[in-house]
Amino acid sequence: MTDIIIIGAGPAGLTAAIYARRAAKSVLVLEAMSYGGQIINTPDIENYPVAAHISGFDFATKVYNQAKELGATFKFQRAVEIRDNGDTKTVVTPKGEYEARAVIIATGSENRKLGVENEDKLVGRGISYCATCDGAFFRNKTVAVVGGGNTALEDALYLADIAQQVYLIHRRDSFRGEEATVSRLQERENVTFVLNSQVTKLNADKKLESVEVTDKAGNTRTLAVSGLFVAVGRIPENQNFASVIELDGAGYAVAAENCRTKTPGVFVAGDNRVKDVRQLVTATADGAVAATEAVKYINA
Ligand code: NAP
Repeated sequence: MTDIIIIGAGPAGLTAAIYARRAAKSVLVLEAMSYGGQIINTPDIENYPVAAHISGFDFATKVYNQAKELGATFKFQRAVEIRDNGDTKTVVTPKGEYEARAVIIATGSENRKLGVENEDKLVGRGISYCATCDGAFFRNKTVAVVGGGNTALEDALYLADIAQQVYLIHRRDSFRGEEATVSRLQERENVTFVLNSQVTKLNADKKLESVEVTDKAGNTRTLAVSGLFVAVGRIPENQNFASVIELDGAGYAVAAENCRTKTPGVFVAGDNRVKDVRQLVTATADGAVAATEAVKYINA
């Protein structure tokens, strides 16, 4: 029996592990992939207090090591179900079942697909969801980024240093991401904004060769690109836990600022929770709150 099982080793889950261990609770972190969550794809974090610049990978590694040094146990297994037994919870993975007094769901989110024909087939052959992972394959080539949030803006900025030409395709004429990053992109000679436009077709032989883009007036044009970086947002990873948490219409877990869900002993922290601001700093804050509430719940 573990005191607290944390599902997800992103910034929220790792911070929860640090807080729970400092409250002397035993902690098991279950992570489906590798530690760090989506922040490992961010090349340069500039808006987290203390460091003016740190890569997402370095940030995640530091927090992971901090949690491990404090005594959190990690198992790299995907949690597929939580069973509520009243005073205890059972977390199920394909490799086994784990009992805890409290569970914190910090699963974050996964990439949203563009939904254009052949998108899946071309992943690894021109289509990518991670500029920092795959950008180097497109040195001196022409690429496009699609999306208007911070991820798309930062990806475009990152790729502008590598690729010869970057198109930034966005379906509206104003961006959801930070104005400061938009300004930096506007200063880059090799970045072209393609606004009020959607990618409507992917042209490929063995690899992506061009994308068809249609604007709001219905005009279509073809952009010759060898890479298309899709950054159109994320989908919360809560579906496996719908029996113990309430989900809103978009799939986010309903929980107030105290991170408590409808099931006593089940907490939710990070980007998969209903909230207005999804940032690294709000994810780590959630981790602290969820762990503190879980400790209170266990000690009550
Ligand atoms: P996001 O903010 O949800 O933006 C998604 C973008 O994709 C929006 O501009 C949206 O357009 C567009 N979009 C959605 N579906 C589309 C579709 N089917 N076709 C074309 N465009 C589509 O997602 P994100 O950029 O991944 O960011 C997620 C969260 O992480 C945000 O809160 C963001 O601020 C945060 N983040 C922070 C940092 C940082 O702090 N350094 C870095 C990266 C991300 P509309 O605008 O028209 O809806």
